[in-house]
Amino acid sequence: MKFATLLCAAAFSLMAGSAFAQATYPTQPITIVVPFAAGGPTDTVTRLIAEPMGRELGQQIVVSNVAGAGGTLAAGQVAKANPDGYTLLMHHIGMSTAPTLYRSLDFDPTVDFATLGLVTNVPMTLIARKDLEPTTLTELVDYVKANKDTVVYANAGIGAASHLCGMLFMNAIDTAVTTVPYKGTGPAMTDILSGEVDFMCDQSTNTTGQIKAGEVKVYAVTTPERLGNLPDVPTTTEAGLPAFQVGVWHGLYAPKGTDPAIVDKISKALQASLKDPKVIERFAELGTAPVSQDQATPEAHKTYLADQIALWKPIIEKAGTFAD
Ligand code: ASP
Repeated sequence: MKFATLLCAAAFSLMAGSAFAQATYPTQPITIVVPFAAGGPTDTVTRLIAEPMGRELGQQIVVSNVAGAGGTLAAGQVAKANPDGYTLLMHHIGMSTAPTLYRSLDFDPTVDFATLGLVTNVPMTLIARKDLEPTTLTELVDYVKANKDTVVYANAGIGAASHLCGMLFMNAIDTAVTTVPYKGTGPAMTDILSGEVDFMCDQSTNTTGQIKAGEVKVYAVTTPERLGNLPDVPTTTEAGLPAFQVGVWHGLYAPKGTDPAIVDKISKALQASLKDPKVIERFAELGTAPVSQDQATPEAHKTYLADQIALWKPIIEKAGTFAD
């Protein structure tokens, strides 16, 4: 009898403790893990929303870069983190391509995470070192075909958006070239600027400044429409490669098992951050925009993730590039 009473009391206090944790969340700084190097596009988007999200939640948000294996290293770590709402993951389209690209993955994107909301869909730009000969996309295609044994493409590892975009480009022109993987396209951009590597496909959030300053060559944007911030850059369709299109969607995740009340709080803070005028303005300067409020929800994100996994599976299988 006494034992049963004790058990009840212990269960009650556990429940009360967890209810208390949900009600008072957050009581300490929150970490958002970025699966690529600092200074790159995923990092940029995360840091832009971290401040208004933190303001909304009344706690500081710390951004931590855990780069490696095309973003899968960080995703694997966050999947196993304590589901208390203090460790989150910002990831992009790579979350939907990794299950097909990687033969063995230590996480399942649809099982091991609670989706919190979509964030933005960023266009890609095809750029090259300033002194690479070709000036148009047609010339670039001819150049790459003629120099396929020496030309070098930079990416952020298998599973990165830059890898996927390069794979689509090489498929579209039926020519494979040497690729060099970096921990993110921030460091890859440094090597494009110094002429170490020849060309790269990367989010406009990482390339707009260098394009506008004339520090890199730009051939096309991978979207159906031209970008407001780079109106002179043709679309891939205008430039003659309509099959080469991709947008890099981003979403915020918590480990599975995170309490629904905490998921709801974080999601609401994400929605608030995407309405922040400074975020909207900076996104526009970088060629993107926040998703609509109904897309920045756990449900919309969950559905979109499953749809994207199904969409990319046959495309990647056809391309035949896999990693262990
Ligand atoms: N843009 C990179 C990619 O290729 C990621 C990054 O550095 O943020 O996925």
